[in-house]
Amino acid sequence: MNEYRILIIGGGPAGMETAYQLKNLGLNPVIIERNDKLGGHLAQWDRLFPSSDSAETLLEKLKDQTKDIEKKLNAKISNITKEGNIFHVTLSNGIKYDAAAIVICTGFDLFKAEKKQEYGYGIYNNVITNAELEDYFKTHNDKRIDEPKRIGFVHCVGSRDVKVNNTYCSKVCCATALKQACEIKDEFPYADVYCFYMDLRMFGKGYEDLYLKAQKDFDIKCVRGRVCEVSENIEGKLVIKAEDTLLGTPMKMTLDLLVLMCGMEKSKSSNEIQKMLNINNNEDGFIETRDNFSGLNLTKEKGVFVAGACTSPKTLPDTIAEARAAAMEVFNYLKVNGQPSLVQ
Ligand code: SF4
Repeated sequence: MNEYRILIIGGGPAGMETAYQLKNLGLNPVIIERNDKLGGHLAQWDRLFPSSDSAETLLEKLKDQTKDIEKKLNAKISNITKEGNIFHVTLSNGIKYDAAAIVICTGFDLFKAEKKQEYGYGIYNNVITNAELEDYFKTHNDKRIDEPKRIGFVHCVGSRDVKVNNTYCSKVCCATALKQACEIKDEFPYADVYCFYMDLRMFGKGYEDLYLKAQKDFDIKCVRGRVCEVSENIEGKLVIKAEDTLLGTPMKMTLDLLVLMCGMEKSKSSNEIQKMLNINNNEDGFIETRDNFSGLNLTKEKGVFVAGACTSPKTLPDTIAEARAAAMEVFNYLKVNGQPSLVQ
């Protein structure tokens, strides 16, 4: 194994898969993760769309692949300098690495629901987020979810929304909403479940089947319209106002539970790394890649690579495919840049 390291910043699915592939290519990766465990958002999730596979099974597989790879948990990057093609990296705990390449896998942050005040998150007890519902499925420990009889899902919370300056689609939340709608209906079969959407973006393998299953088998009602106001009545039930944009009629409905499908935003940790490496944002505020076609794993900084949702919203299969591609880009870069000692 060579003396120089390949630094993987972030220990979510993209980071774990990139590290595993680099190790298979004979390189010497180290994963730097700011939390006390690997997994990123995947570790908080219960089941994955479209087929309701266990998130934990995938997480364990990814973790198992990295069992022989060095990791630094609870660690942040505090400084990076570059000399020739080598990065000198100092961690918050004082550990230093000389790295031949850096792969940024800093993922995404979920949009903060309280920024959309009109939905009442943080004001009304029974307005929750997609992440909180997923946590309920995992733990069954949330007093707010108590035999709800009527449940609404609001799509596009913090995405496709000029008011919060996020005009992009987060890609995964339509399918997540329908998955969660089926799961909650499974748990509370007598509940009425409504999904309020702008467009349903069900583009991937198996997504259309999920959409049909949600309607045929679970009687999920998909309403094309944006919820514009949420309040609470004297009985403590939520009252929502929306417009059915297919029928062109205003709607008012009482609900026991409202789930906000919060989209993806660039993570705070991406910001910190970008500043150190002088890498720009793209038009959606994520990390800019070299181009939009063949340079998706490259940045303008030589030796700095990217994988996963740090560059744009991504599904898990896309993230894992990108991680593999990033590992190959690193390998080719080291070969082409005349550093034979870096490649066994
Ligand atoms: S995937 Fe669906 S819910 Fe998410 S931002 Fe796109 S259209 Fe909205």
